[in-house]
Amino acid sequence: GSADIECEMLVLGAGPGGYSAAFRSADLGMKTVIVERYSTLGGVCLNVGCIPSKALLHVTAVMDETSHLADAGVTFAAPQVDIDKLRAHKEKVVGKLTGGLAGMAKGRKVDIVRGYGHFLDPHHLEVEETSGSGQDKTGSKKVIKFQKCIIAAGSAAVHLPFIPRDPRIVDSTGALELRFVPEKMLVIGGGIIGLEMATVYSTLGARVDVVEMGDALMQGPDRDAVKVWEKQNLSRFDKIMLKTKTVAVDAKDDGLWVKFEGEGAPAEAVKYDLILQAAGRSPNGKKFAADKAGVSVDERGFIPVDKQMRTNVPHIFAIGDLVGQPMLAHKAVHEAHVAAEVAAGHKAAFDAQVIPGVAYTHPEVAWVGYTEDQAKKEGRKVETAKFPWAASGRAIANGADYGFTKLIFDAETHRVIGGAIVGPSAGDMIGEVCLAIEMGCDAVDIGKTIHPHPTLGETVGMAAEVAHGSCTDVP
Ligand code: FAD
Repeated sequence: GSADIECEMLVLGAGPGGYSAAFRSADLGMKTVIVERYSTLGGVCLNVGCIPSKALLHVTAVMDETSHLADAGVTFAAPQVDIDKLRAHKEKVVGKLTGGLAGMAKGRKVDIVRGYGHFLDPHHLEVEETSGSGQDKTGSKKVIKFQKCIIAAGSAAVHLPFIPRDPRIVDSTGALELRFVPEKMLVIGGGIIGLEMATVYSTLGARVDVVEMGDALMQGPDRDAVKVWEKQNLSRFDKIMLKTKTVAVDAKDDGLWVKFEGEGAPAEAVKYDLILQAAGRSPNGKKFAADKAGVSVDERGFIPVDKQMRTNVPHIFAIGDLVGQPMLAHKAVHEAHVAAEVAAGHKAAFDAQVIPGVAYTHPEVAWVGYTEDQAKKEGRKVETAKFPWAASGRAIANGADYGFTKLIFDAETHRVIGGAIVGPSAGDMIGEVCLAIEMGCDAVDIGKTIHPHPTLGETVGMAAEVAHGSCTDVP
């Protein structure tokens, strides 16, 4: 049939994957169109994910920090939170970034088509115009004909089927709306998103319970790092229920009555004023008629791709949360660049050795590559070097002597294959360990690199010195 718009490159979805793919495609000379149902670019990450959560976590980190200054002889009055102003602050942060993206799209002559896209065949996408938050379809439609396509449609929060619809029950998007600070809050899911939001709401004054089906909070990093976080957060939560399931929620006028089952379950139903569902995210693969384009989608909604980010249909690529774990923005961006470059005829492949993870909690927990647990499971011989921040001048000066920096080396090659940092700014510092792994550094390379003193980042060098001492004769 006929098309309203024609392009060389169509990008479906404008999250970190989509906008990065579109910008790179345009830079490589392709006439590029982005289809996005939201009114702004940036996807989950900028609008309702990474950025608004960090805007709030920064504010609450400062609040927590000031409460620790009494020992240093400085006291503050109890914080007064104006929730409307805090929300406006968060929205301003998001607005600066989405506005910046719009400018970058314009500068590259990337066309943005607002609406919900679904495939008609391997070269046509129909877009139903949307308004408001992107859920409402206006009825107006456009057909786009494309030569190549990068699908970057992302993921959505999992909603547990037995949980009723109620304005007091939210997912991360609803929690970030910050409509009110509840007296008592339940966070379902002890993963990173749940714990970040639990950190925000508890600092703002809510009493928070966390319920987790698994046997530990924060799956991913080594347990010793999580233990440090746990110790620093002992008094933050009312109750942490591990190996426990939420089995029923009764939404009554006086509150949300929740029943639990499992090891940590209280005998009686517990009343909450707000429930956050943070029990994982699922890919959007089944929501845009990928089959009409001939693109395979697995039963969970992920789209399988090769190292060049190609789907089973050679001119259609997929990237980001849609193609698998870890569902992280920095992974999406790197995959985006590969897809755009391959589509433009360049040689490229996604061959990152490691993808770092960070919980931006108080304190932060950051990790990359092998954990000790994983090495043990795989029977890989490793050496670990841990530098406790109690021996770091800067950490002591900063009141962060509880943290540590750990490096994990292959016992034979002595190359660094993993690392973990727990403490303030851990996420900012893990980048050095990522680079070390990608460059094939050993302990000597890192230890002999002069780090500025006194910094928290110096602890990466000091951890390497610890390892260095243990695997060579050099003192
Ligand atoms: P998305 O960002 O999900 O973007 C997909 C876009 O496609 C959306 O804008 C959607 O509207 C659009 N779309 C989907 N289907 C259609 C369609 N059919 N038609 C039109 N448009 C469509 N990651 C980090 O790395 N660091 C963090 O600190 C971090 N914090 C997070 C905090 C929260 C609360 C959440 C929820 C996530 C967080 N993440 C974080 C994860 C991160 O947001 C995602 O990994 C990232 O956004 C994935 O990018 P993406 O481009 O694959 O998809």
